Amino acid sequence: MCIRIAVVDSDQSEIAIWDPDAVEIRVQGGTHPHDLIRELHALLAIDLGVFTTAAGAGLRCFCGAPLVLPDLSSVPAAVPGASTL
Ligand SMILES: [Zn+2]
Repeated sequence: MCIRIAVVDSDQSEIAIWDPDAVEIRVQGGTHPHDLIRELHALLAIDLGVFTTAAGAGLRCFCGAPLVLPDLSSVPAAVPGASTL
């Protein structure tokens, strides 16, 4: 089963939280992508034991497939007043 990444509204205490039941990483909407990637790298390495080759090399699932980051800017709750285009 592959890891999924889900964006949530800004009501969680940390940028990224691993949910083992859902095999899902819940990330806070509106997080800066650089912060998010750093958090995800740490979470994958420490909590999940997924080894990443280097920062910036991309995030990977258990199976080696690339993890695709969601578009955080599309979360309305985190970007109040943002224009749609
Ligand atoms: Zn996978």
